[in-house]
Amino acid sequence: MLITVNGLVARSYPSGDHDRIIHLLTEDHGRLSVMVKGGGSSRAAGSASCTQLFTYGNYELYRGKGGDLYWLRGGSVLTPFYQLSSDITRMALATYLCDVASDLIPEETNEEECGVLLRTLLNSLYVLSKGDKSLATVKAVFELRSASLMGYRPDLTGCDLCSEVYPENAYLDILNGRLICADCQSKLNRRFARESHGDESSAGRRPVCPVSASVLAALRYVVSAPDKKIFSFAMKDAEEERALERVTETFLLNQVERDFDTLHFYRSVAD
Ligand SMILES: [Zn+2]
Repeated sequence: MLITVNGLVARSYPSGDHDRIIHLLTEDHGRLSVMVKGGGSSRAAGSASCTQLFTYGNYELYRGKGGDLYWLRGGSVLTPFYQLSSDITRMALATYLCDVASDLIPEETNEEECGVLLRTLLNSLYVLSKGDKSLATVKAVFELRSASLMGYRPDLTGCDLCSEVYPENAYLDILNGRLICADCQSKLNRRFARESHGDESSAGRRPVCPVSASVLAALRYVVSAPDKKIFSFAMKDAEEERALERVTETFLLNQVERDFDTLHFYRSVAD
C-alpha cells in the first residue's frame, strides 16, 4: 500500500547501524512510524533533509502486507524550521513539544482533534522559531491547548464550590481540572486537616497550583481563543510567565500521567 501524506518529523532515532525510524505526525493518519533506510549513515543524512527533526514535508510511504512499519519511498520539504537548530534552548523546547504531541496523537487515527493538534504544534514551532514570544509563553500555550484538545480541558468558568467568576486568588485543582477560589481552598484545607487529625502537612500536599487573577485570565484565553489567535496575549512580566507555565506544565503532566526526559533536558539548558 502506498500513501502520500503531509507530516512533521517529531521524533527520530537510530535503528541498527544504518537506518533510522522517524515518527511522522500527520493531518489525517495520526502518528506514523516510518523506516528510513540508510538514514543513519552520514552519506544519506545530507540528501535526506526531509527526514530531519522538525521538518514539515510531503512524504510518499509504502507498507507491505501485514507490516506494522511504513517505509519511506520519497519526500520533499515544505517547511524546514531550520532556525530551531541554531539555538540549543529553542531546540530543546521544540523537542519537548514534539514529544508531547507524539505522545498525545495515537497511531493511525483520522480523529479531527489530531489534525488540529498538529496545526497547533506547527503554529507553536513557527512562533518559537520567529522568537517574538518568550519560551515560557510558547511552552505554556502549547501545554494547555494540547491537553484541552485531547480531552483534558480544565473547567475555568468559576470557583467550583462557590461559583465566584473572578476570584482575586485561586487554585487549580490539578487532578480534577477545576478552579477553587482562595476562600474555599482555605475551608477545604481546614476540613482536610480536621479529618486527618490536625496533620496540616498532608492537606498541603494535595496537588493544587496557585492561580493569580492575571494567570487565570491567560488560562481562560488560551483554552477558548480561536486557533490562529492562541498567542495573541501578553503577560505582565517574566515572573507571571513562569507562574503560567508552572500551572500548565503541572496540569499536563498529571493529566497524561507521565514525565518527559525531553522536558528535563529543556529545564537543564533553560535554567
Ligand atoms: Zn469559592
